Amino acid sequence: MTTTDQPRAEAIRAEVRAWLAEHWSPELTVRAWWKLLADSGWAYPTWPTEWYGKGFDADLAQVVRSEIAAAGALAPPHGIGQTMGAPVLLQFGSEDQRKRFLPRIATGEEAWCQFFSEPDAGSDLASLKTRAVRDGDEWIVNGQKVWNSGTLTSDRGVLPLRTDPNVPKHRGLSFFIIDVDQPGIEIRPIRQMNGEAHFNETFFTDARVRDADLIGGLNNGWAVTLATLANERSSYAAGADYGEGIAPGAKSGMLDLTCAEAVTRTRAAHKGETAFPLGDAKALIGLAREHGCLDDPSIRQRLMRLHSMSEAARLTALRAKAAAAAGRAPGPESSLGYIAGVHLARATRDLGLAILGAGGMLEGEDAPRHGSVAKMALTSLVHGIQGGTEQIQRNIVGERVLGLPKEPQVDRDVPFKDVLK
Ligand SMILES: Cc1cc2nc3c(=O)[nH]c(=O)nc-3n(C[C@H](O)[C@H](O)[C@H](O)COP(=O)(O)OP(=O)(O)OC[C@H]3O[C@@H](n4cnc5c(N)ncnc54)[C@H](O)[C@@H]3O)c2cc1C
Repeated sequence: MTTTDQPRAEAIRAEVRAWLAEHWSPELTVRAWWKLLADSGWAYPTWPTEWYGKGFDADLAQVVRSEIAAAGALAPPHGIGQTMGAPVLLQFGSEDQRKRFLPRIATGEEAWCQFFSEPDAGSDLASLKTRAVRDGDEWIVNGQKVWNSGTLTSDRGVLPLRTDPNVPKHRGLSFFIIDVDQPGIEIRPIRQMNGEAHFNETFFTDARVRDADLIGGLNNGWAVTLATLANERSSYAAGADYGEGIAPGAKSGMLDLTCAEAVTRTRAAHKGETAFPLGDAKALIGLAREHGCLDDPSIRQRLMRLHSMSEAARLTALRAKAAAAAGRAPGPESSLGYIAGVHLARATRDLGLAILGAGGMLEGEDAPRHGSVAKMALTSLVHGIQGGTEQIQRNIVGERVLGLPKEPQVDRDVPFKDVLK
């Protein structure tokens, strides 16, 4: 933060602190607390003032978040609705769409999911085949999506669909918001190697979506999808964790518990295991000390390497912020930040396992750190895949930053129906 912002930041800090002292209580229900937070504007300070926000920049929003955490108050609802649904509605939605969807996202009454990837369309998302055919003031949807996080507990999903196969692939997509609870949608959980079933395959058979829930105009879905992906990537900061908070939406069963009960229940579900932080050299130093290998020269060297990598990532992020504050166009920092996050996740995994030795293979309450290092190691692979893969980020750096020749795209100007032949 620049020093000129400092007095404003301190004034905001004091204001949030006073508001929390007056309003926060662990005895409130999650529903009541999230509503209070949303109505106050402190839940999502970067959103515009007319839509639950304060119009703050990311630094001031961080001040608000850190005060909420320091007070021990429950954080605002956080999920795909808040990180992707709301920004896309604020950027592309009509007034009517914002009125219908934003209140239930801001208060956490609804959970949202993302229906983007398909078996043949992940990195090359514009090749998606799930199609929508118009039927009066609705569209009929058929096809399959995959890797859809949290769909079983979601109420709605963001869904790009093929609405015109007669034009090249990027030009025939439209972006919808769909109700998850309907007869034409079948959700099948996928079991992962860390034991969780975080994501699902989803089959659409004559499912229905309203024309009123088309976002950003017919066949303009690629622009809306790209904006959503940019919001997704920025929600995965370098080294960001893949932990579980109190999930929004009625299906998670938390809304009518008191905040204190919801926290206890969530901790019990994780059986005392707290997520092991990624890219945090201090946490690994603590682990090495606990396991008597802080004097091991090779461990010390790797700790120093991780610390240097995480400092370089932090400084790159600060450079990006400074460039944005000075009005300069985004540079390579966002792709570099993503790639740095992938390296930090892998280095944390490898060092954690090296420190624990065979103990790093154990899970459960008797395992070192209640199995949190083993869980982190098995989960760390998501970094480098979710939100677009590492290789795709490297392509972006190669083409847009280093000016290397673009990958050949033979299907770019071919009608999508002819690509399928
Ligand atoms: C934890 C997690 C949560 C997710 N949640 C969701 C969700 O909620 N909703 C959703 O829709 N999706 C979700 N995904 C899916 C994710 O977006 C895709 O896995 C990702 O976009 C990659 O697509 P893919 O798996 O089809 O891999 P592919 O695109 O098939 O790629 C396979 C490999 O080929 C490489 N590759 C592909 N193209 C190129 C190229 N042009 N140049 C160089 N290398 C290339 C890739 O880097 C990768 O290594 C999630 C994934 C994870 C891991």
